[in-house]
Amino acid sequence: MPKPTYASVTEQACTCSYLRHAAEDPDNPIVFHERTGEFQFTYQQANHEGRSMLVIYHCPFCGGAAPESKRALLFEVVSRSEGERLEEILAPIRTIQDALALLGTPDFDGYAGIRQEEQDGKPSTWRHRRQIRYERLSEVADVWIVESADGRLLWQLQGKYLGKREEGTG
Ligand SMILES: [Zn+2]
Repeated sequence: MPKPTYASVTEQACTCSYLRHAAEDPDNPIVFHERTGEFQFTYQQANHEGRSMLVIYHCPFCGGAAPESKRALLFEVVSRSEGERLEEILAPIRTIQDALALLGTPDFDGYAGIRQEEQDGKPSTWRHRRQIRYERLSEVADVWIVESADGRLLWQLQGKYLGKREEGTG
């Protein structure tokens, strides 16, 4: 089944095989990514190690929709009721110290770099915020907690990874 995006002008699938042939050509920047089932453009970004990629939603030759991505199946879906259950657990937590006292030792305790681009005449900034993660609060979600600029806590539920990690990548 093809998967056009909300902006697609056609739901018709690509049947011209351009993407498949391009992916088989090692000199072509188009690759097929087995794990997600996506065709992707890969390219080298200046000052970045490794290659970056853009997901291809439509065939560049015929304009048909590219095959459906399996990306959505890579992570658990966090249901509304599970989100509400976790919200209740997290509601009394106001600081990182509260979280540590109530939830115990986190599975990750570190810093997140937050980059703010230059805008409205203010220079770009790069800030570090303490960030912790708990994996055992839920069967389906990892809970990320980060300290915001004014000391308040922000938390985020992230569906757990379903597949096997690829060797050598994080
Ligand atoms: Zn095509």
